[in-house]
Amino acid sequence: MRTVIEHAQVLCMDEERHVYQDGYVVLEHDKIIAVGEGKPDLQADRQIDACGGILMPGMVNVHSHIPMIPFRSMGDDCPDRLRKFLFPLELEAMTPELVYRASRYAICELLLSGVTTVLDMYYFEDQVARACDEMGIRAWVGETVINMETCDSKEPYGGLTLCEELIKKWKGHDRIHPMAAPHATNTNSPEMLKAAYDLACRYDVPYTLHVSEMDYEMELFRKEYNQTPIEFLYDLGVLSDRTIAAHCIHATDHDIALFAETNTRVAHCVGANTKGGKGVCPVYDMENRGVTVGVGTDGPSSGNTLDLFTQFKMIASAQKTRYHSRGIFPADQIVKLGTIGGAKVLGAEQEIGSIEAGKKADLVLLETDSVNMFPAYNPYSVIVYSARPQNVDKVWVNGAQLVEGGRLLGVDLKKEREELSAVMGEFTRRAEEYKDIL
Ligand SMILES: [Zn+2]
Repeated sequence: MRTVIEHAQVLCMDEERHVYQDGYVVLEHDKIIAVGEGKPDLQADRQIDACGGILMPGMVNVHSHIPMIPFRSMGDDCPDRLRKFLFPLELEAMTPELVYRASRYAICELLLSGVTTVLDMYYFEDQVARACDEMGIRAWVGETVINMETCDSKEPYGGLTLCEELIKKWKGHDRIHPMAAPHATNTNSPEMLKAAYDLACRYDVPYTLHVSEMDYEMELFRKEYNQTPIEFLYDLGVLSDRTIAAHCIHATDHDIALFAETNTRVAHCVGANTKGGKGVCPVYDMENRGVTVGVGTDGPSSGNTLDLFTQFKMIASAQKTRYHSRGIFPADQIVKLGTIGGAKVLGAEQEIGSIEAGKKADLVLLETDSVNMFPAYNPYSVIVYSARPQNVDKVWVNGAQLVEGGRLLGVDLKKEREELSAVMGEFTRRAEEYKDIL
């Protein structure tokens, strides 16, 4: 099956940043086989007129906890909510069925907003992988390893065994890539951080964790080790090109140098970080020092949405404000973070992140007819500052079209919501018990 998409403004996000004003892209099976200006020299089974819309690479969300949909809009303004109710409620009420149904619902939101690849770390992660597999999205999945009893393990650190099982089960899948995912620097012992890293090395998979996110985490490492969490991880020997450090809000100049030296990658989650009043990651300095950075939403209760358009606007505002300069972080650099930057974070830049012949056909077509999309002088600016998820018209992952006319193909969103609601009963009942602190 060969598909030609014509009359699109094609933003390739390749090394040379090619933009084709009246461009085409040809897809065959799971791959892009041609891209250029005008009309292709190839016969097609299906022809699509993009009507001047913007065709961009599928977006890559490099940090999330997608099964946390049931927590969305709960205790949004509650200080220290992680320890006050997120951890306890997860322990009491998350079940495999709830993780599975919430993941399916979250994937609907991801696909409808043009996210074609997501990195997820949570509990019952095999259920997340199952949902991603069924629904056609590309995913990196990691079972959480943490120093306490969890909803899927009575024993602290039981996640390490589950993590290995997950890796064995999913390694080699075309779209689903397992990882090792210790929760954070301050919620694992040094031995367990290392054990999870050794597991990642043994199976040659990525290693991801929360780093330099919390004020109390910074305090703890200063007191215990007289180091930053990043210096500590460096000495522990777990920083390398397989490491994806989420947040890194409080990264110092020395920390950034350590990331650059070890080729450690960063998942920047500005929405979650600023909503929590935690601070703004020095992404501009990281980029200037050659550190690879991608964009994450964090869970749907941290940033409330799973789309990257929301994050793009906040990255611009936060970085320009932090460095007191309108000129830094132009829109094309922000689109880069959400596409090829994210692909590099995952070590998958040979496969995804840009529109180039030979790469996987992960594509997003934005319509430019809606009221918020006119005029459109610069397509990068349109994506960062004007566009919203509702402007996503069509989406392909691995050559399969999953969204048409802003609607999911083969998935009934209303039914997904009903199925999720049906398994949320116990969760909702337990959540009531926290009413007075939310
Ligand atoms: Zn997170």
